[in-house]
Amino acid sequence: MTTGDIPADRLDAVHEHIARAAKRAGRDPADITLIAISKTHDAEAIRPIIAAGHRVFGENRVQEAQGKWPGLKEETPDIELHLVGQLQSNKADDAVALFDAIHSVDRSSLVKALAKAFRKTDRRPRLFVQVNIGEEEQKGGCAIADLPALLDRARAADLEIAGLMCIPPQGREPAPFFALLAKLAEDNGVPLLSMGMSSDYETAVMCGATHVRVGTALFGTRG
Ligand SMILES: *Cc1c(COP(=O)(O)O)cnc(C)c1O
Repeated sequence: MTTGDIPADRLDAVHEHIARAAKRAGRDPADITLIAISKTHDAEAIRPIIAAGHRVFGENRVQEAQGKWPGLKEETPDIELHLVGQLQSNKADDAVALFDAIHSVDRSSLVKALAKAFRKTDRRPRLFVQVNIGEEEQKGGCAIADLPALLDRARAADLEIAGLMCIPPQGREPAPFFALLAKLAEDNGVPLLSMGMSSDYETAVMCGATHVRVGTALFGTRG
């Protein structure tokens, strides 16, 4: 993949790749949201991407995001911030306060904690259920077999689940896993699909992703 030297060029290149993949799949590129994953990068690295017009960002740790995003949001109030990493139930209040979307709902105890957090505030981040799509022992996400029950739990708690999220197993062809997530979303009436990272976001777009999570291709390699 080609990436430009300056952040604005990298952003243009990623948008162009998304548009091309969308076109090949007969999709409207406007239906795909690029989430710039800025984890490990500081405000100095993030500002050029904001200056280039980008507004949707993602982080994988609540505490790290609390350190840099309140200040950046003050500079640019229309930032939309997504949590893409695991969330501990005791950080649910903090996550709801800071993030506009949470991609890592993966167990009923977290559904319960989020429902409780929602009762204390008007904020309603958009929720995605993370599915352990490769059935990997060590990986986060709800087991495929447990998905319908978790979605029921969320509905019973008045939490709207807007989408499904996955991270396919490393070193495997990702398309079948993306296709499986798309099938699960369709079967369960969940409209959004968060899938695809720097190495495979074009494939994800071809498979129906509505949200791609791209870090390295925008910010360079993490130190
Ligand atoms: C880090 C991360 C990404 C971005 O990964 P890149 O390969 O750098 O694009 C996407 N999703 C999640 C959940 C991540 O933790």
